[in-house]
This record gives sequence, structure tokens and C-alpha cells, in this order.
Amino acid sequence: MSVDPQISNVVPSELADRVQSGRIVDGVATLVVDATAMPATIREAFEAELKSAVAALDTVDEVRVGFIGDRVKRRIVAVGSGKGGVGKSTLTANLAVALKRAGVSVGVVDADVYGPSQPTLLASGEAKPQARDKQLIPVPGFAGIPMLSMGHLVDADRALAWRGPMAAGAVTQVMEADWGGVELLLLDLPPGTGDVQLTMVQKFKPDGAVIVSTPQDLAWIDAKRAMQLFDQTQVPIIGLVENMSGYACPHCGEVSDPFGSGGVEHAAGDMGCAFLGRIPLNLGIRESSDAGAPVAGGDSDLATPFVDIARQLSEWLKDTA
Ligand code: ADP
Repeated sequence: MSVDPQISNVVPSELADRVQSGRIVDGVATLVVDATAMPATIREAFEAELKSAVAALDTVDEVRVGFIGDRVKRRIVAVGSGKGGVGKSTLTANLAVALKRAGVSVGVVDADVYGPSQPTLLASGEAKPQARDKQLIPVPGFAGIPMLSMGHLVDADRALAWRGPMAAGAVTQVMEADWGGVELLLLDLPPGTGDVQLTMVQKFKPDGAVIVSTPQDLAWIDAKRAMQLFDQTQVPIIGLVENMSGYACPHCGEVSDPFGSGGVEHAAGDMGCAFLGRIPLNLGIRESSDAGAPVAGGDSDLATPFVDIARQLSEWLKDTA
């Protein structure tokens, strides 16, 4: 294997040893890089550096970088809930940000066909995914987190009118996108147990699932139904999260429990599931979500529960690797 001299001339010298081959055909530069023992975060930076160096050549219109050695074993974790509006998307976005800050190469798939909110939560703006060889390329969201959402593919009101099989086809396309060096894909599933959820769990077999519920009985009954879907398809439940648990009055600080509190933890204990934590009902969480700046990206107390759940998720992934 050889490296085209035009490419060797522009590859930064400290990276040169890693480039196994490089050729330019019809304006497309294809590089094969040895990524043995290279952490995913370094690999991403390396890929970006190589791409910009080679793309600067007059003879190159497109750069493709392939890695060999230590292939990424991508893990998939689904975030599910029995019903909508319990904070599943908020949790997914904040977990992604907390994991990214902890050095994990994380991506987000927003499969919530009926209410895709990740483009807002992770502030991907007006970006629309491009395709290469019919494969979608994720768009960068908050903190550069690669993401793809049903909301990137169609207007939310059109997605609503999709029939189950069409929606399942669209989420398949998103899952099979070019996720590059992403080690962990967080999957924001639509609530309930329809076609999209079935396609996702059967076809892509998540390594595990995190279930979100509010403390209300009704939400919890629905969450149990969602857990059955994972159980029946042999997707392990990593644990349960109670969201909107306890409300601290912004004026007097008194904590009240509009939806009750602690119910999900008890239920997790009864069912032999791990309880990952409790997230308070807090105006700041909603406001920062709407503003596309997840609280987990800052250092306020509000980040703490998300950072803690992200840590437990990382540990679970390590233990089950
Ligand atoms: P789901 O994905 O389950 O439909 P979302 O994450 O979209 O739910 O949350 C529904 C609404 O509740 C959003 O407006 C969100 O900002 C708000 N929300 C979620 N969690 C909290 C929380 N802990 N405190 C305050 N607002 C929250």
C-alpha cells in the first residue's frame, strides 16, 4: 500500500506513520489510517485534522478516511418511557452532554417520530443531514455531539402523519448513518410500544435501556409496559430514572412534590431493577432545554443528577463490555 505524494506532503508529520495508504481518484481522496490503541476522542480529532489538510489540495473535492485496527465496537443504549412528556428527550440530551464531557464519544439518535425534539434540545439549528453514497451523515449538535433526528428529515407535522412502516424505515436509515468513531449511540425512542420501538429493538438490539418515569402512578404503569417490550426482546434494563421529582419553589425554596416522589425507586426495588437517580422538577431545566443549552453542559447543581446517571451508565457499559 502506498501514499500519494500529494497526500504525504500535507499530512502533519506526527500523524504520517499512521496513514497506511492514500490515493486520489477523480477528486476523491481515500485514506486508510491505522487506529490501533487510539482512543475514540483522539481518533475524531485526528480524522478532522487529516480531512482539513487533504481537502486543502486543489486536486481534491472530497476526503474519505477509513480506520483499521481496533474497530469501534459501538454500543447502543435506548432511553424509553411509557408515555410522552415525562422528560425522556431531556434526559437523553443531558446524558449525551455529560458523557461527552467525561470523554465518551457519544452520538444521539432521535427516533421520536411523533415529537422529535433533539434538534431543539441539542441546538442543531437549521442543519440538514447530507448523504454520501445514500448513507446519511450526522449533523453536529451541542458541544459537537453528532446527532440525527426525525426532525432533520421531515417537518414534525409530516412525521406525525407517517404510517408505522414508513417511520420504521426512516429510523433504520438514521441508525445506519455514517456514525464514524462514535462509541456510544443514545437512542431517544418514541414513547410506547409501536412499530418504531419494535424495529429498533429487534433490528438494532440495544445493549441496554434506561427507563424514565415521573412519580405519578399512571406514568409508572405505562413505563412498566415499555419495560415489558425490552424484556420480551432480551434488552437488559440498565435502570430507572425518576424525573420531575420534587419541586423547589424558586421564591421560598420550599420543596413540594406535585407528582409525588420516591415511587419509581420503590418500584425499581420491587422489580429488582437498578434505580439510577431522581431529577427535580425545575424551571431552569426546562428553560435551558428550550434554549438548546442542556444543564449538564454547565456547572450548576442542576447538572449533578445527570452527571451521576451518566457515570452509572458508563460503569454499566464497562461492566458489560
Ligand atoms: P418526552 O421526551 O418524555 O416527551 P421531554 O423531555 O420533551 O419529554 O419533556 C417534556 C417537557 O417537560 C419539556 O418542556 C421539558 O423541557 C420539560 N421537562 C422535562 N424534564 C423536566 C424537569 N426535570 N424540570 C422541568 N421541566 C422538565
